[in-house]
Amino acid sequence: MNTDSKKIIVAVDGYSSSGKSTMARRLAKATGYRYIDSGAMYRAVTLYALDKGMIDAAGNIDKAALTAALDDIAIDFKIMPDGSQHTTLNGKDVEKEIRSLRVSNNVSPTAAIAEVRHALVAKQQAMGESKGIVMDGRDIGTTVFPAAELKIFVNASAETRAQRRFLEMTEKGNALSYEDILANVVSRDHIDETREESPLRRADDAIALDNSQMSVDEQDAWLLDRFNETIAKL
Ligand code: C5P
Repeated sequence: MNTDSKKIIVAVDGYSSSGKSTMARRLAKATGYRYIDSGAMYRAVTLYALDKGMIDAAGNIDKAALTAALDDIAIDFKIMPDGSQHTTLNGKDVEKEIRSLRVSNNVSPTAAIAEVRHALVAKQQAMGESKGIVMDGRDIGTTVFPAAELKIFVNASAETRAQRRFLEMTEKGNALSYEDILANVVSRDHIDETREESPLRRADDAIALDNSQMSVDEQDAWLLDRFNETIAKL
């Protein structure tokens, strides 16, 4: 049998800082699949809008201007010598900037704009055309790849997630308070769950995982088991 016919799409959805990116990235590495961080794409669009003055200090977005500019926003992923991926925005490496609180505080309202979602979903679907992809986000199993062979929906308590992001940011040398991060996590959950256009929700056929009490290694092993089970059933 042609091994390509055994390639699948893995959709990993879940709440902010639930560890879904880590597990998706590590599964991609273990299987030789391509990894796509769809959240980075929404973050890059948000950074573009902020830098172009399309979002004011109060967080109001000039939707018409952003919608008109969508064709001018090129987002890509560059593989670094250490194997990690950096997001590029119109050719510029923006990996660090898109993780800033400035972007985090504005990304969910930006991602709630239907035109922004349509443009990014089309790009994400094109990336998955030949399968062999692990994509993480909020709507991958429901909207981007509703026919994905393996869907995971990850959750953990807001406090656990904020603590994880706090440690991650501190390790990277970003001085942010735990309280600010927790507030951002809770606020993004709310906007993501209540928006009209493809809200965050578990697809009916997604496997739920609460990883609050799991180590990264346990999580990796669990996901690889689900992956192998899915491939074996093809
Ligand atoms: O995954 P990450 O937390 O970096 O995503 C940033 C934000 O982008 C989320 O809070 C959400 O508002 C938005 N997002 C989305 N749909 C996706 C991925 C991310 O709306 N598929």
